[in-house]
Amino acid sequence: ARKLLMIPGPIEFEPAILQAMAIPTTSHVAPNFIETFGNSLELMRTVWKAPKGQPFIIAGTGTLAMDMAAANLIEQGDNVLVISSGYFGQRYKDILDRSGANTTLLEAPLGENTPLETIEAALKTKSYKALTLTQVDTSTGILIDPKPIAELAKKYDVLTIVDGVCSVAAEELNQDEWGLDVVLTASQKAVGVPPGLALLMVSEKAMNVWKNRKTAVPNYYADWSNWLPVMQAYEDRRPSYFGTPAVNLVVALETSLKIICKEGMDKRVKRHLDLAKAFRAAITALNLKTLPTTALAANTLTAIYYPEGIDGAAFNAKMNDNDIIIAGGLLPDIKATYFRIGHMGSVSANDLMAVLGALERTLAQLGHAFEIGKGLQTFQTEILKLN
Ligand code: PMP
Repeated sequence: ARKLLMIPGPIEFEPAILQAMAIPTTSHVAPNFIETFGNSLELMRTVWKAPKGQPFIIAGTGTLAMDMAAANLIEQGDNVLVISSGYFGQRYKDILDRSGANTTLLEAPLGENTPLETIEAALKTKSYKALTLTQVDTSTGILIDPKPIAELAKKYDVLTIVDGVCSVAAEELNQDEWGLDVVLTASQKAVGVPPGLALLMVSEKAMNVWKNRKTAVPNYYADWSNWLPVMQAYEDRRPSYFGTPAVNLVVALETSLKIICKEGMDKRVKRHLDLAKAFRAAITALNLKTLPTTALAANTLTAIYYPEGIDGAAFNAKMNDNDIIIAGGLLPDIKATYFRIGHMGSVSANDLMAVLGALERTLAQLGHAFEIGKGLQTFQTEILKLN
């Protein structure tokens, strides 16, 4: 039977986007492709709400986008504050350490957000060049509100770098108004394009910090000196070359960004919020517990503990038998205790009904105590309240 891919990326992609990819590959300087690339850069500004931002579309994954921001903005010995709510915060620390930064990790207790007072206290201790935060940490399903943190960063003259891999094009984002310096993502999540593109939007302020570096960017591929002229050329609809772009993925990206902009970001954010809220209510009705406790819960995925006495591997396999593919845990220490369900991109209420149906069957088959139909009923009731 047909299975639904409900992990937190890659997601189920729209048929129109997959079809767009299937064109015969053109030259990267063919007029049509120049237009597609230029359009994609412009549409990114609408999605990020960054009319003044400098967009980059690079072949690579989200980790490359993280690496690029670090390599271009950080120099040997710079102080960087890493605000972490899970696995990907730790990854940013690892990347920054490798870039020669002097990092301070602020790790939130499991299931919680780091209080603003703690962040401000850290910012007072030394002069930081930048701070990083993960808007949605995919390992915990925790959402960080970048806005008040960016305000603090501004007060202390610190750059704000946002890992938006699991949030851009789904969670609320207003890059220019909030004063975010880099917001980066990858194609395979809420942007809705198969894996392979690293996407960054950089503020004027951060571009100036980069221009005024004292030392060369240590990594050749990552260096914006190589990529900025290419991005500018595509926007001016001129041919250009540094490294061959992922032609078919960029064609898919233009298609997806057009779909996203047609829906409108405000509507899209609300759809994710409404569906996530109803889904969490259903999860609670099934006597399941989510990982975020006092933290804000992400609207792009939900991290849920396996019920007591149920083996995780058996549960995941049963869900697969019931035609829903979910993800296991990712935080090394508690990996085996929880699972994750993605709900981003073009996800609908019907998709989540299918997930809840499979989840109820799985739980019943494995002997979990709950009232069958309760999750589905709760979800329907919550969704109907919206209309
Ligand atoms: N940051 C976050 C928040 C992520 O969810 C991911 C991917 N799961 C990454 C970074 C890394 O992205 P990629 O796997 O595309 O390198």
